Amino acid sequence: MARLSEYYEAAKQKVITSCLKCGKCISECRVMPFSRIKIDPRKTQQDIIDFLSGGKELSPAGQFKLNSCMRCYGCLDVQCPIGVNSMLITELLAREIQFRKETPWDIPLYPVHEELARKGTSAEEYERISLERTDVKADYLFFPGCNVYKQPDKILNALDMLDAIGNRYSFAPGLAYCCGSSSRGSGGDADWLQNAAEKLFGLGERLKIKAMIFWCPTCLSVLQSRIRHFLQPSFACISFPRYVMEHISKLEFPAATRRTVTYHEPCKNAYMGIDSCVRQVLRAIPGTELVEMEHHGKDTLCCGCRTVNGMPELGNAVTLARLREAMSTGADTMIDLCHNCHWIFVPAVKSHPELQFPLRIENFSTYVAKAIGIERKDLLQSC
Ligand code: SF4
Ligand code: SF4
Repeated sequence: MARLSEYYEAAKQKVITSCLKCGKCISECRVMPFSRIKIDPRKTQQDIIDFLSGGKELSPAGQFKLNSCMRCYGCLDVQCPIGVNSMLITELLAREIQFRKETPWDIPLYPVHEELARKGTSAEEYERISLERTDVKADYLFFPGCNVYKQPDKILNALDMLDAIGNRYSFAPGLAYCCGSSSRGSGGDADWLQNAAEKLFGLGERLKIKAMIFWCPTCLSVLQSRIRHFLQPSFACISFPRYVMEHISKLEFPAATRRTVTYHEPCKNAYMGIDSCVRQVLRAIPGTELVEMEHHGKDTLCCGCRTVNGMPELGNAVTLARLREAMSTGADTMIDLCHNCHWIFVPAVKSHPELQFPLRIENFSTYVAKAIGIERKDLLQSC
């Protein structure tokens, strides 16, 4: 089986030996238009290559490139003459920095996930989202991913919807399994990522499932961009909304509520051409009208993602731009799918009252669950 670490090593050598230092990967990065700090793309790329080649320190411009990256996958379509993308360079930098530490990858795995999951659930609910359940007769395996454990109401909504659809399914809990892109995997520990992914996909193979259902959009992006380098599952890998869409006839919508919604999609899936099928589900809900933001589909905008923590001023500029775009649609509700987008948008609205944001922000799971009669408080909205 191929090793992901070898893939990263080959990519690093390619950048060091073949990069033309044209700077395109930096100048066309999607976060740059939002930045007040301007860096010289060619010079920055030279700094990065110097560092990857063994140079002692990464220059401030190189640091900026690393910390500003939203990991949005929006540079996959940049026409790099040597076929590299900017996000891969971000990963190589993160990896290189870890390699040089005395204790590399000393990164806590799930620092707050379990705590918030316990806090937000009853003992019975916690058991429901944390215990593995295998049904050898099931065609499906549901995997929520790890990060959504910070908002356990979303997992409970998803499980309720799976139960309402009624097909048999197994459940791989997200803190026992990982696609590999936890803070440690995305911090560059390729072996950790590979082992985690092999464990998760190995479970699917053992259970002989037809499809693994992913809640988390990042898991699907990591599957396509990294995991497929070393592993080809024998089963389909689909998003949770796609599963709902394929079985929508099994759901009953008791009462139509008139709502005009706009949809903020997970940019990484949109940029990679992964259709999570949210729009089809929303259009099937009686009374729901969908209006689009100026940027949507392959042209969508990021929520700010990692940059909100890595470089708050820049990250917040991206977040607020997206919220303003939602406001200009005239919708009464903004739906997000990714719990991480939700984690960014909800506090951003609370901390920027001057924005006078008139829309409700609802997660896809909350919105659809409500439409089929399941009322569960959004823990993020109520805290
Ligand atoms: S676009 Fe490609 S060739 Fe140009 S600087 Fe970036 S990595 Fe090097
Ligand atoms: S992943 Fe997004 S933010 Fe990061 S380099 Fe690519 S386009 Fe820029």
